[in-house]
Amino acid sequence: MRNILSHANLEILEQFAWSNVLLAFDYDGTLAPIVENPEHADMRKTTRRLLGELARIYPCVVISGRAQADVNRWLQGVGIEDAIGNHGVEPWKATTRMRDDVRTWLPVLHGALAHLKGVTIEDKDFSLAIHYRHSREKKKARRAILEAASRLGDVRIIGGKQVINLVPKGAPHKGMALERERERLGCDTAIYVGDDETDEDVFALDEPGRLLTIRVGAKRGSAASYYIPRQAEVDELLRVLIGTRRKAEQRRRVGR
Ligand SMILES: [Mg+2]
Repeated sequence: MRNILSHANLEILEQFAWSNVLLAFDYDGTLAPIVENPEHADMRKTTRRLLGELARIYPCVVISGRAQADVNRWLQGVGIEDAIGNHGVEPWKATTRMRDDVRTWLPVLHGALAHLKGVTIEDKDFSLAIHYRHSREKKKARRAILEAASRLGDVRIIGGKQVINLVPKGAPHKGMALERERERLGCDTAIYVGDDETDEDVFALDEPGRLLTIRVGAKRGSAASYYIPRQAEVDELLRVLIGTRRKAEQRRRVGR
């Protein structure tokens, strides 16, 4: 993994910025800092302003694990093309059947996890997120959640930052959502930025020259090609992307 913001790698960022590129971002931990309470998941003011500026010169989408309505709430007024929710399920595969399947998991999990303090089950209709950030015995909580989840049958278990995500097996993931959005918006290439295990579905697409993958924070074992060192540097990444496209447009005008 290489730092995309280091001088030597700016050229690859420029190549993508000059192409017919879709910019796609995860939300929590990527555009917004991770917070103790997910109800306070605002972006920094600077990030919000830069994202708005970016959305005027590039097609931009957000692909989040949050429910679509929830992530839309945080992005209101920014002007991005689209927000995809539930790790890629919403809106295009959000069926009643999928919701009913997820609903059958709830009593099982409530029964198995009720005794664990600080563990909460977030029902997002098409997937569940079981948070253990507020547990005092995180290892024990995590083990119990995984054990209970393994009894559910057709479930895909995806870890995360003090959260276990449960998604219906065979549901579209973030990688599929990205491909679909790129096609829908008629883009040739894409840049994706994410920070967590569910973003590995995009990082693993491995399409050199067509997809540029950037992880927030370097991590051994991640399939992403590049990283930015910390979440706060997302502002710098957005600034560089804005600057590069403006430069490209100027050159085009001069060349005409
Ligand atoms: Mg994230």
